[in-house]
Amino acid sequence: QLSRRLQATLRPGDSLARLVNDEMLLMLENSDSDNAIAAADRLHQLLLKPMRVGTLDVALDCSIGIAAYPIHGNNPDDLLRRAAIAMQDAAQQSGRLELYQEGRDDAHQRQINLVRDLRHAAERGELILYYQPKLDIPGRRVHEAECLLRWNHPHYGMVSPGEFIPLAERTGSIQLLTTWVIGEALRQLHEWNGHGLVMQVSLNISAEDLGDLQLAERVRQQLAEQGVSAEQLVFEITESAMMRDQQRALDVLLRLRACGIQLSVDDFGTGYSSLAQLKRMPVQELKIDQSFIRELDEHSEDAVIVRSTIEMSHSLGLKVVAEGVELAPMLELLARWGCDTAQGYLIGKPMPAAAFEQWLRQWQGSQLAKVL
Ligand code: C2E
Ligand code: MG
Ligand code: MG
Repeated sequence: QLSRRLQATLRPGDSLARLVNDEMLLMLENSDSDNAIAAADRLHQLLLKPMRVGTLDVALDCSIGIAAYPIHGNNPDDLLRRAAIAMQDAAQQSGRLELYQEGRDDAHQRQINLVRDLRHAAERGELILYYQPKLDIPGRRVHEAECLLRWNHPHYGMVSPGEFIPLAERTGSIQLLTTWVIGEALRQLHEWNGHGLVMQVSLNISAEDLGDLQLAERVRQQLAEQGVSAEQLVFEITESAMMRDQQRALDVLLRLRACGIQLSVDDFGTGYSSLAQLKRMPVQELKIDQSFIRELDEHSEDAVIVRSTIEMSHSLGLKVVAEGVELAPMLELLARWGCDTAQGYLIGKPMPAAAFEQWLRQWQGSQLAKVL
């Protein structure tokens, strides 16, 4: 029925083919992009008209991607690939219709390569853990750090976690990464403990990890193997990850807490949770998202948000961390408002373990330590 319907729209010279499954190819002769878009729109409307199957009326929805000769390619392979990319882009959109966008090809190829290579990144030694200091504001000391993952890709060089973490989350390899990060962080803690350097480190955990009921047990075993105390470990979970499947997340979080691991809410203020909802979660720390800190000054709207978040968190018994502290006046304000911890380029950028150790030794005598 579908092919019959589509065939009825063909003009002389046009051709229709079925590629695979539910994918069809329509080739329009002597048509420019504008005409192709108009034709695609008509097709979309046509398919939406219900068709009778037995006693049922079925309406079809579809995604249409368009590539035009010669601007999007002068050979069948390029044109087909780019039409497919445009179709995938269209599927993400409500309009369901996309013309191939210049450059999407490279971006798309890069994504495919990253997804493919991500699975082997750990075993190939391409992953590195960076450590960013977290300053204990009243104590003026640094005894905490956040572990941030870096990927040194053999072809693309350093790929930011902002790019590869979401890909890993979408393609089911995030748990592989989380496992590597936990193992590496515990190995580092064990090594530091041996030097008499006792740090507490925070790790970032994804929504997918919160669906894993075995997580706590695995971490407990790894802690025991490395002889590291659970108090040295904090798991950071974004607000939205906690809210996705609240019941399951609560279960996993309670198990982690039962091991003695501390829990922290990352990027607070960017999701839709309320402090009331968070109160039900077994968390000890809240990290105010950097978007509230970036342009913080005494009289801004952000100041009201940050101050009241600090106050409310304290009355709920939560420690507050400000992320993205870049300038000294911000740190002074945060100190005045009773914020517990500050993290940001002002204090230190994320760095490899050896550089972090060196940084720590210099920090104690630094200007900033005296300013506070
Ligand atoms: P996040 O956990 O909120 O980490 C803070 C991000 O802010 C880091 O970016 C850090 O480098 C950056 N940052 C810290 N201080 C400043 C500052 O003063 N100014 C500015 N402009 N930025 C600052 P990064 O390392 O690129 O990580 C981005 C995100 O990727 C992290 O956000 C986290 O959500 C995710 N991520 C990183 N490592 C891991 C990991 O091992 N597992 C998971 N699941 N996610 C990770
Ligand atoms: Mg974090
Ligand atoms: Mg954050």
